[in-house]
This record gives sequence, C-alpha cells and structure tokens, in this order.
Amino acid sequence: MSSTTKKHLVTLIAGDGIGPECVYAAKEIVEATGAPIEWEEVEAGLNVFKRGLPSGVPPETIASIHKSRVVLKGPLETPVGFGEKSANVTLRKLFETYGNIRPVRELPGVKTPYSGRNIDMVIVRENVEDLYAGIEHMETPGVAQCLKLISHKGCEKIVRLGFEFARSEGRKTVHCATKSNIMKFTEGMLKRTFEEIAKEYPDIESHHIIIDNCAHQMVKKPEQFDVIVTTNMNGDIISDLGSALIGGLGFAPSANLGNEVAIFEAVHGSAPKYAGKNVINPLAVVNSAVMMLRHLHLFDEASTIENAILVTLEEGKVMPRDVVGDEKAASTTAFTKEIIKNFGKKSTKWKVRDYKPLKMPVIDSNPISVKLKDRSYVGVDVLVESGMAANELGKSIEELTKDLDFKLKVISNRGTKVYPSSGAITDCVDLWFCRFFVESEKDYDNHLAKLLSGISQKHKWVHVEKLQKFGNELSFTKAQGED
Ligand code: NAP
Repeated sequence: MSSTTKKHLVTLIAGDGIGPECVYAAKEIVEATGAPIEWEEVEAGLNVFKRGLPSGVPPETIASIHKSRVVLKGPLETPVGFGEKSANVTLRKLFETYGNIRPVRELPGVKTPYSGRNIDMVIVRENVEDLYAGIEHMETPGVAQCLKLISHKGCEKIVRLGFEFARSEGRKTVHCATKSNIMKFTEGMLKRTFEEIAKEYPDIESHHIIIDNCAHQMVKKPEQFDVIVTTNMNGDIISDLGSALIGGLGFAPSANLGNEVAIFEAVHGSAPKYAGKNVINPLAVVNSAVMMLRHLHLFDEASTIENAILVTLEEGKVMPRDVVGDEKAASTTAFTKEIIKNFGKKSTKWKVRDYKPLKMPVIDSNPISVKLKDRSYVGVDVLVESGMAANELGKSIEELTKDLDFKLKVISNRGTKVYPSSGAITDCVDLWFCRFFVESEKDYDNHLAKLLSGISQKHKWVHVEKLQKFGNELSFTKAQGED
C-alpha cells in the first residue's frame, strides 16, 4: 500500500497518563496501513522530571528528534510547582515549531449541538512567542510581570504558514484574529503583517477579526470559518473552544510545524484519571498521526485511515466512551481494531479532502528592525517600588531629579495615570511607572545614569525601559489619561 519504499524515521514518545494507550493505538493503526515508518521510542515527561531533569526532555530524546525531524507524541504532564517548565513547551521551543495547526471538523456519529452544520476549520496558532515565551518577573513581592514578545518575523512566519496551509487544503478564506484594538504594538503587529502578506495570496479571501468576537462567532456561526491565524495565547483558548464544538478533546489533533522539525500530538492532556483503564478515545492522537503521514507525503496511507475513521463513526457500532457513554462504550483497543477492520471502505457522505503537499514558508533571516535608520531615544520609564501615595511619590521624585536633564512627565500605576492626578479612582499597587523625557539624545546614557542615581537616593527602582521614537512614531504606548 505504501506510496514509496523509503523508510521514514519517526521519534515516538508515549507520554504520561493516557498517553501510551493513545500513542500505541495510533502506531498500530499506522503500521496496519503498511506505511514505511521506522519508530524510535524515547522518553519525556513525568518520569524524566522525577529523575531530577527540570526540562523533562532528556538528551537522548533531543538527539533522536535531531535525527528523525518528525515526532509522534502522547501528552506530557507538567508538575505543578515552581521551577519546572512544561516539557511540551520545551519541545516546541527547542525545535522552533512555530506553527500549531489544529483542525476542527464535524464528525459523523458524534452528536453535538452543532451537528449538521458542517464545521470544518483549521486554527493556525503561533506557537513560540507571545506570553508563552514564559518570560516572567516578580517586579515587587506583590506584582508579577509576564512579557508578551511578538516579532515581525514571527508574525510573518505564522501568517505565511496560514495562507500556505489554506492552499494545501484547497481552503478559500483566512481570518486573522487579534486583540489589536487594545495591544496595538504586539497584537497589532500580527494584524498589520497579515494585511501586508494577504496581498500576495489573491486567490484566498482574507479578513481581520477581533479575537473576542472571533470566540463569539465560533459559538454562534462556526461554519463561517475556514482558516484562523492567531497569536499563541488566543490560539490556545479558541482551539480548545473549537474542539468542544465537534465533540471534545478526544477528537482534537494537532501538528507543531517548524522548518526543521514537526511534532504531532493530541490537543488533550494526560487525563490521569483514565490512565490504564482502556476507556479513552484514541482519535485525537490517531488523527495527529494522519497529519504526520501527510507531512511525510504518505497521502494514500493517511486517506485510508481517515476514511476508515469516518466509516467507523458513521456506522456507530463500535464507539468510544466520550460519544456513547460508559454503558455502550467500546474499549480503546476494540475501537482501534474496528478502525483497522474498516480499511478500504469509504463513506458516501463524509469525504476526505484533496490534500496537496504543504509549502513551508522561508523567511528572510534579517530582522526588520535592524534596517530602520531613523530612530532616537526620547525618554525612559523607570519602574519604582514604593509604598508611598502617588502625590507624595511624585513630589519626592520631582525634587530628587529637578536639576537633571530627564524631566518627570507622568507616573502611572497598572497603566493609568496617577500623577499629576487626573481624578481617576485607581487602586494603586507598589509598582509605579515613572515616565521621564529628555530634550536631546546626546549623552543619553550618562544622563540616565544620573537619573537612576538621583532616584535611588530615596527610592528603589526595579526596572528601566528606554523610550524610543522610530521616525515620527512613538515606540511606546501612553498610560490611560496621559496626553
Ligand atoms: P486533559 O488531560 O486534557 O483532560 C481533561 C478532560 O478532557 C478529561 O478529564 C476528559 O473529560 C477529556 N479528555 C481528554 N482526553 C481525552 C480522551 N483521549 N478521550 C476522552 N476524553 C478525553 O486536561 P487536564 O486534566 O487539565 O490535564 C492533565 C495533564 O495533562 C496536566 O498535567 C497538563 O499539564 C497536561 N497537558 C498536556 C498537554 C500536552 O502534552 N500537549 C496538553 C494539555 C494538558 P471528562 O472528564 O469529561 O471525561
């Protein structure tokens, strides 16, 4: 049955909780197609954390992925506590799998309030930037900060991937979902990049949508969406919403794609309460394996499995627990066998798409910002930790800095101007953003050093953010109430 005789090496990670049951079911189904795959099984997750490796991903696993470039994995549990990073996020970031593809398609026999509406969309989520870069600081013992880093390069990669993915699946529309109305620089960068790049794909309709309305529209009229490109955090939330529309996490596959490595896994986690009970639905991982086969250009094998799944669900004789409940449910292993038994059959109603190979975008490696010539320093935000009231702090800082080149313009607290008072009723915390401007950029760093030493005579500064102008554009946002 295989369309080629070359054997593809695939790194297999069984994972934690229900992971092994799902992953071995998928492996059995893939092997039954005769797909030319050689598996290399390695470890990651809970047992590795328990052995004291804080990344949860041992060197042998990293070496295997470097060799194979393709991974099929089960869910990995993240210990709750401080210190350990999610092994899933580690894997995605180690191999720069910047695009997370999550298909959401109505399935036969899986009754939901949306049955019959033909939901069939793909969420293309940026996978390595945004709040998920996990760059967090405790600025004061009572105030935490998480950096939302978004790059033009990251946006370009995910937008191009969205359009290329649409082409590979013959899809006609791409939506870009952002919160650009509030976060104009970060979320706005994705919107602007999307609007630039959309012009290169005239065969595909493109629309921008605000993410909260996108969530609303997904519940109200999900059939209107084809491909949705979005940032990491937004994508995480709306893709879980998407899986609920088509029957839950038991059905939701995903691919993490990069230019070097691709990792295929279910959207769901390790569901520890079902571990070892042979009751879970393996389809999320099986469908992830189908995506993997297409990535390896094993299109016939992928379609054999997808058709067999559609037939099995349409017949409804052997069904997983999350569709028919405990009483009538088939075990994970029986359901797996039924899919294999249905190889070669096709539903007359439920069709498999005509897939073409996906063209991964190649992006200019030169960051756009380096090319910008006309830029200058105009001021600084100094974050000060203080238990004083706004007025008292403002007067004190003005007094300490009155003879310096940097002049205090405004103090804000959690994004709202509090000094000079604008009359806002703000429940202040002990982290104050003191914004200073300077007339000339000349000797900027020396003046800044004097400013910091002036402030530190009486106050504790914890963070400094230089303020720039790019051409005539300010590179920073204003606080609420700041003019
Ligand atoms: P979860 O493991 O996804 O389970 C949540 C619920 O989803 C389950 O209780 C079950 O619902 C349903 N479910 C999940 N997989 C299913 C399947 N194959 N078949 C049928 N139903 C399924 O979420 P969690 O309990 O929040 O997370 C558990 C652990 O997994 C955590 O340590 C988390 O960090 C980790 N996690 C890993 C990944 C990953 O590796 N990519 C992703 C998410 C979470 P019912 O209770 O209604 O039956």
